Amino acid sequence: MTVSVVLFTNDLRLHDHPPLRAALGGDRQVVPLFVRDRAIEKAGFAVPNRSAFLADCLRDLDEGLRARGGRLIVRSGDVVRQTCAVAAEAGADEVHMAGEHTRYARHREDRLRAALEADGRRLYVHDGVVTAVEPGALTPAGSDHFAVFTPYFRRWNDHRPHEPLTAPRRVPVPDTVSSEPVPARSEVTGTSPALAAGGEKEGRKRLTAWLRGAATAYDTRHDDLAGDATSRLSPHLHFGTLSAAEAVHRARRAGGPGAEAFVRQVCWRDFHRQVLAARPACADRDYRTRHDQWRTDETAADDIEAWKQGMTGYPIVDAAMRQLAHEGWMHNRGRLLTASFLAKTLYVDWRIGARHFLSLLVDGDIANNQLNWQWVAGTGTDSRPNRVLNPVIQGKRYDPDGAYVRRWVPELAGVEGPAIHEPWKLPPGRRPRQDYPDPIVDLAEGLARFRRARDLDRDRGGD
Ligand code: FAD
Repeated sequence: MTVSVVLFTNDLRLHDHPPLRAALGGDRQVVPLFVRDRAIEKAGFAVPNRSAFLADCLRDLDEGLRARGGRLIVRSGDVVRQTCAVAAEAGADEVHMAGEHTRYARHREDRLRAALEADGRRLYVHDGVVTAVEPGALTPAGSDHFAVFTPYFRRWNDHRPHEPLTAPRRVPVPDTVSSEPVPARSEVTGTSPALAAGGEKEGRKRLTAWLRGAATAYDTRHDDLAGDATSRLSPHLHFGTLSAAEAVHRARRAGGPGAEAFVRQVCWRDFHRQVLAARPACADRDYRTRHDQWRTDETAADDIEAWKQGMTGYPIVDAAMRQLAHEGWMHNRGRLLTASFLAKTLYVDWRIGARHFLSLLVDGDIANNQLNWQWVAGTGTDSRPNRVLNPVIQGKRYDPDGAYVRRWVPELAGVEGPAIHEPWKLPPGRRPRQDYPDPIVDLAEGLARFRRARDLDRDRGGD
């Protein structure tokens, strides 16, 4: 019988998996392979929260394969060398994998293709596995990518992704290929205490529950910090335990303004990926050069530390930063306002904030994280790059009675109502009993510093 290898990366599922379907075509045996890629570990990307979630995903994938007569093959090391070794062991003549668009993924694909071809094997790279709409599938006249979201969304919304594929009934795996043990979540230390569970079953359960429940009010409630009314599907979309195309199909089928608003958010994910695919250097370089002279003085180091610890003295910023540490996840509104606070009010290089987010986020993703940070910092695709979010106004607007702050900042638990967003204004008798810092920066001074810096930018001809 002929054999194919399916190399799983950010697509840890059995439903709607074009590479697996193609590999199984013509009555083939399949080697479902996951390589614990040392290069990703060395680059510091395999942080505890994502490693633990990944372990759940691999365990669940292995269980799903076993229920279909197969099993997952796990190897560690250099992904190209390991894939070639497994293909040779299994006598496979082809390898299938999902297309990805980061610099690293492209380099991996090129190396793998060359190494396989040198051994007389073929690499098949499948589109539409990681995104709903493939980067490059939609381009505006005269450019290789969309730099503005709204026209991208219009085109994206008219472009129907492929119909989701069902999971295969049987996955016959040859006995001859050896595997390392599937990693267990319990082997990972240093995770956030309330980290979500991973795996395809969990992702599918969450999507179903979400579309039947809170999604109906998503259009009106998504920014309610205390209401926690978003899908929390981001880690599943990141690890591919849920197909973005399937999520879009099912949300469209559910219909209604909530589901439509959700589909629009999923489009942001594809939008950032098509920007990164066209400009891979933007993972660490400014998309638009602003000539920023980010702070590097000693007080900046103290401010960065206070921001990381959730001790800035601005309750909404501190609540969101503490949610990140505790759950390895943060609400989108929290991400926006904490990033604006660091990059604009404190005028600290967005890369420092992005790195901290990536060290904790369970959905930490190069395209979404770096390009959202750039969007907020004004070096990215935001058409209003100089807007600065005021944390007091943001707090009063998106956490009007302070429930979110009270949940995450116990020092302020006794403060009632919106006054919680400005504890420094409380009369002495209503001040928090426990220690809570005074604001580390005056908002007007922070704004003036940012504006001065961006005026300088205009003089230098930044765009
Ligand atoms: P929902 O509101 O339910 O949205 C559904 C899905 O749409 C999300 O799961 C996500 O895949 C996608 N989505 C929603 N908003 C965005 C957005 N602004 N950009 C791209 N995709 C979006 N998202 C990540 O997945 N990984 C990251 O590393 C990441 N870093 C971010 C950093 C900053 C500074 C900011 C402002 C945003 C970042 N986001 C990131 C985007 C967004 O905050 C999260 O996707 C969202 O909060 C995840 O929660 P949810 O699944 O409940 O989202």
